[in-house]
Amino acid sequence: MIYLDYNATTPILPTVLEEMLPYFTEHWGNASSPYSFSNPVAKAISTSREKVANLIGAQPKEIFFTSSATESNQTILNMYGPSVIASSTEHSSTHEMIQKLGGGHIPVNTQGIIDLTSLAEQIASKRPKLVSVIWANNETGVISPVTDVADICANNGVFFHTDAVQAAGKVAIDVKKIGVDYLTLSAHKIFGPKGIGVLYVKEGAPFESLIMGPQELKRRGGTESVPLIVGFGKAAELAHNDLAIRSCKSKSMRDKLEEAIFDCIDGVYLNGNKDDRLPNTLNVGIPDVDSDMLVQLLSSQGIMVSSGSACKSQAITPSHVLLAMGRSHKEANEGIRFSVSHLTTENEINTLISSLKLILQSL
Ligand code: PLP
Repeated sequence: MIYLDYNATTPILPTVLEEMLPYFTEHWGNASSPYSFSNPVAKAISTSREKVANLIGAQPKEIFFTSSATESNQTILNMYGPSVIASSTEHSSTHEMIQKLGGGHIPVNTQGIIDLTSLAEQIASKRPKLVSVIWANNETGVISPVTDVADICANNGVFFHTDAVQAAGKVAIDVKKIGVDYLTLSAHKIFGPKGIGVLYVKEGAPFESLIMGPQELKRRGGTESVPLIVGFGKAAELAHNDLAIRSCKSKSMRDKLEEAIFDCIDGVYLNGNKDDRLPNTLNVGIPDVDSDMLVQLLSSQGIMVSSGSACKSQAITPSHVLLAMGRSHKEANEGIRFSVSHLTTENEINTLISSLKLILQSL
């Protein structure tokens, strides 16, 4: 199997799993219990909190664990209700919540970059309390100008939330330098386990729990899933230590793939800005080729990639991200995403290119 869909999820690294295992077997106590059996469990949670805080330049007390990035995003959005505006290319966990709450959308240009003039105008006219802008887009890899967004928000007394799920482990994040009020992370995108997310809440920023209970500094109820939290901590530590090498390896594989695709496919076009983009992501459209069909054909050859379409009410709908960038429905259905990692090899890229050529010739 050749896996080129690391933006969808990543495997747990062996060292991460190794660190988690004792918390399934030996240290299975409840972190909230007062007796000595639970001491190592409570300690493991605080160590993980420190490691995650370190990844984004936060204080440990500003980090708390949730069940997923979806929960983290929706906890913040729910707090502000309709008084939120968000970019029109958010991940579906934000996009759908904004629609439900009746919040506003900030347009992006044809390269997927948020329109800062419109952001400032909407802040002036709609007076939202929160702006939510994805740090790096999951489909195109486009990186938002988060420093500018944070400045505009700060100058207008508006809180700023960013979904940094795809950015984490691929680009450097420093919440204090940028001025972020709320930030979302997910472990399974950085070689940690699934089912565990993080919400960073800047000290002093307003907060209301979505799930009440005494755990997680009273911010997120429910007995802590300690093995998953430990896995998140270890994955964050590795992502922080290996950021430069991982990004460099990913970029060299992504660039090789991009060059080969543009060399061998007529009319292929890039979705998203070429420069302000994650080092591991490539989203292209191949004229007259339906990407869902191509995903299936590649899958039948053991190669896993992704299209941006979503399955809603048993119908396939084109990617709202590509439509927001001004792509037609036909073009949006042509969008195919390759996302590599530091584990991707040159051999895998060569095999993909050969298969792609054969498939396209046969169509
Ligand atoms: N935000 C972004 C940008 C994502 O790519 C994803 C996962 O696809 C999520 C949020 C949701 O993450 P989780 O699976 O932890 O809910």
